[in-house]
Amino acid sequence: MSVALKAFSYRSHEGERAGLWVDGALFDLTWILAEWPEASERDLPDRATLLDLIERGVFNLPFLQEAWDFASKTSLAHKAKLPEDVDFLPPVTRPQKIICLGRNYAAHAREGGHEVPSEPIFFAKAPSALIGHGHAVLLPPQSKRVDHEAELAVVIGATAKAVGEEDAWNYVAGYTAMNDVTARDLQKQDIEKGRPWFRSKSFDTFCPLGPWLVPREAIPDPHNLRLEMRVNGEVRQSASTGEMLFRIPRLIAEISSHMTLYPGDIISTGTPQGISPIHDGDVMEVEIEGIGTLRNPVRAG
Ligand code: MG
Repeated sequence: MSVALKAFSYRSHEGERAGLWVDGALFDLTWILAEWPEASERDLPDRATLLDLIERGVFNLPFLQEAWDFASKTSLAHKAKLPEDVDFLPPVTRPQKIICLGRNYAAHAREGGHEVPSEPIFFAKAPSALIGHGHAVLLPPQSKRVDHEAELAVVIGATAKAVGEEDAWNYVAGYTAMNDVTARDLQKQDIEKGRPWFRSKSFDTFCPLGPWLVPREAIPDPHNLRLEMRVNGEVRQSASTGEMLFRIPRLIAEISSHMTLYPGDIISTGTPQGISPIHDGDVMEVEIEGIGTLRNPVRAG
């Protein structure tokens, strides 16, 4: 009988560790892998993180299932159980790059007063903006309007250079939820002056990611998922990932024709309509069908 499996990263007193979500319960995957004889044959370090698994090409559903089968047949599963309130880190804590899509849903392009693009619009977000599930987004004093943006994010699983659309899925490790938090007033000023969007997207804490990294094999069609943003329980954004203008294979092909994508790099696929401002004390939730819910409170910075 197969079980539903997702991975996550968390902080223990020993530093970053990998975790495994099994039908709602949390387990220390780093420990399971250290005890699992098969893992030593895969050249994994003693304290493997999720990025270690991705870089060694073993972050996939069969590998996670085998590791869990080993743990559940021994007393290890019981010993490796974690409390529900672990300190979540982003699934990948140090990606080389975070590449985002601008206006990749037609209705969102129109709500911003823009034309629907005829080719993908890429921009970057600083990896230093990353935070995990449960951590607070801090409102910077320089901005008077900060918005949420619910997005489906892709984590790259293998080095990708000039990859064709037909091969692109082979370079996906899995999927997670992202909130592309944006200082809208600063972004608007920069657009008017013909400047890049980088600063308005990259304040510290402006990139909540996670909590779960769901292996590619567990999501047969990432373009048929409900994507929702709730603020204090009220639905602000609700769409299907099928509404994306440019889909994941096209994005990987286009980006990898310009720059090499490395394991752990993140591509966030854009936000649907319904962006709105957030305030001190709000709680934001990005929920993606089959992936899970990313929750972050908002605090004055
Ligand atoms: Mg966005």
